[in-house]
Order: sequence, then structure tokens, then C-alpha cells
Amino acid sequence: MFAERMSFIQPSGTLKLSGMAADLRAEGKDVISFGLGEMDYPTPELVVDAAKKALDQGLTKYGPSRGLPELREEIAKCSREKSGIPCGPENVLVTPAKFAIYLSCVALLDNGEEALIPDPGWVSFKDMVHAVGGKPKFYKLKKGYFLPDEEDLKGLINEKTKLIILNTPSNPAGSVFPRQTLEMIGDLAKDNDIYVISDEVYENQVFDGEHHSIASMEGMADRTITVNGFSKTYSMTGWRIGWLTAPASIVDALGRLQEHTLTCLPAFIQKGGLAALQGSQAFIDETREELRRLRDLVHERLSSMDGLDCRKPEGTFYIFPRYEFDVPSAELAERILNESNVLVIPGSAFGPAGENHLRLAFAKKDEVLEEGLRRLELALGKIKR
Ligand code: GLU
Repeated sequence: MFAERMSFIQPSGTLKLSGMAADLRAEGKDVISFGLGEMDYPTPELVVDAAKKALDQGLTKYGPSRGLPELREEIAKCSREKSGIPCGPENVLVTPAKFAIYLSCVALLDNGEEALIPDPGWVSFKDMVHAVGGKPKFYKLKKGYFLPDEEDLKGLINEKTKLIILNTPSNPAGSVFPRQTLEMIGDLAKDNDIYVISDEVYENQVFDGEHHSIASMEGMADRTITVNGFSKTYSMTGWRIGWLTAPASIVDALGRLQEHTLTCLPAFIQKGGLAALQGSQAFIDETREELRRLRDLVHERLSSMDGLDCRKPEGTFYIFPRYEFDVPSAELAERILNESNVLVIPGSAFGPAGENHLRLAFAKKDEVLEEGLRRLELALGKIKR
């Protein structure tokens, strides 16, 4: 019945386990979830108020497919001023960040063309490439520091390579790609006529080092689709709104696809997004400092646990400890959930190099974090025995 491509499409490693945790909660279990990548903080009030006001004003009908003009203007301005990406409103498509990546794959990948994706890397890159008939090929983020390696990338490039997908700060490892790494990727892309999708949704959660946008680098704006969103920055994961910036010809193509699929994003949601960008940005600095404190705390606790080896992430709100005992991570995550009602994501969900790791999303209240880590330590102690 199904198209052949469906045989490659797995359940999302993050959403599946989070669904299991929700089921356990519904059974009355006290589950602590370090699963899905979202913060325990509410969306800023000014954003909620702007969306409510828009609803009261009757902004409940279709709007322009590519996004409200004022929002596209504002996104272009932020992209120029904050990220150094040369762009105007004609370079902006308002669309959910995940959908932005999917649309880009639809538009750029012909059957059998190859996309290089990070390993470990976000769970959906591979499946999105498969979904459009493309072929994902993993490039390793090297152990220990989780950055791509030039020789490894070079070895993967051939005449079928159309795309490199990158994600900095990176999910699940929390590494922040330095400028030289991005320049190296940019040079490979230019030399081999490859397009780049740069997923930068964690750009505001950098604790050490600096975030750089590859599209701001020489000659790269012409071949880069930069994906960003409101979800992670403004704690708006349920609003499903983000954007991409790209050359106008690509925005036109993706805009046509959006016309035939989503039609448009709800205007009142976009008004919330506009308020987020135009309002005080204090929320970003406050959450970053809070996340830095939590990162330090979680890192210290996990590093002290027997059998875990834990690198300090420079960005995001994920931590990705490696464990040294011989249980596949999918099995380990399930045993931890059953043993202690703590949800962690198995590293294998993020690609072969993720095996023997666990991912914890740590943007939690202190008491929840402490209790979750306490239970995790006990569970690991039992499982190792
Ligand atoms: N990106 C987040 C995560 O990795 C949210 C879930 C998803 O969309 O995959 O947990």
C-alpha cells in the first residue's frame, strides 16, 4: 500500500518516548521527563498578549502565504543585524522551522541525490531526506568535541551530493561550531556546488564561544537556507512558528510549496512572533544565564555518576553523557523509565555515533532536575549491577 520511501520513515525518537512518558503520567505515574527539547518556562507574557489581542481583532482568516509583511520585515532586520545575513523581506519565508527543513529537502533533492547530515544529529534530518526520495549520508561529529572533520566530509562528497545539513549549536551534543569549522564547510560547499541548510534554532543558547551564521560568510548567502524559529528562543514550542532566510529564488520556490500545503501560518500566531522580536529581549539573556547555571549543575552531577563520562556542552539545553557499560541505549532508556520514571532519550535515536550516549534536556526547575538526577543515579546503579 505504501510508497517505498515510507519503509525508511521511523517514528521520531524524541516524540515517541515523550508519548510514552505522557501515557505513564496518564496512568498516575510521577514521571520526570528529560525528553523533549523544550524549556519549563512559560512563553513571555507580551507574546501571549499580542496573540490574544490579534484574536480579539478578528485576525482569524487566511493571510499572505509567505507571512505577514511586517513580520518578514522584522525577521529580515534581525537576520541582518544580529546574524550578519544579507537579507530583505524577499528572502524570508515564515513557516515552522521543522517544515522549513522539509520544504527545503522537497525543493532541492531529486530522487537519489545525497544530503550530508550530522552524526550524532537531530532525529528528523535523516527521515526528511528519505521522505523526499533523497539519500542521507552521515558525517561524523568527532567524539569528544562533536565537530565535523574536513577529511571525513571530503570523503563523502561525490557528484550526487546536493546538500549539507548543519546544526549549530548542535542537538544533541550541544557543541557550537567555531568560525573556522563553518568556513571549512562553506569552502567545500562552494568548491563542489553544494547547498547548505543551516539549522540555527539554538543560536540564543550559547554559553561558551560565539554563534556564527554560515550565511553571513563570504559567498554563502547565495547557497544557504538558514532555519530559525521562536520555539527554543522564546519558549514557544507549541506555537509552531519559525522562519527561513534564503536567496529570493529559493524563497519563491518554497513559497509555492507552502501555498500548496500549509497555505499560511495563522496570523494571530504571527502577531505573537512579531511581538517576541520587537519586545524587550531581556527574556533571552535571562534564560541564557539560567540555562548556564543549570548546565553547570547538571554537568557536575552527571560527571560524578559512576560509569558516565560527560562533556560540558557549550550551547543548547541538552547534555549528552556517554556511558561505559554494555547495554544498547534504546534498552537503557527504557529500563531507566521503568525503573525510575525518568525519561531520557537514547543516543542511538540521533544516529550510529549516538550509541552509548543518553540525551537529557535540562531546562527544568531546580527541584525537578535534582529529583530526576537522583532517580537516574539510583537507576543506573541498579542496571549496572
Ligand atoms: N527538536 C526537539 C528535540 O530534539 C523537539 C522535538 C522534535 O521536534 O524533534 O527534542
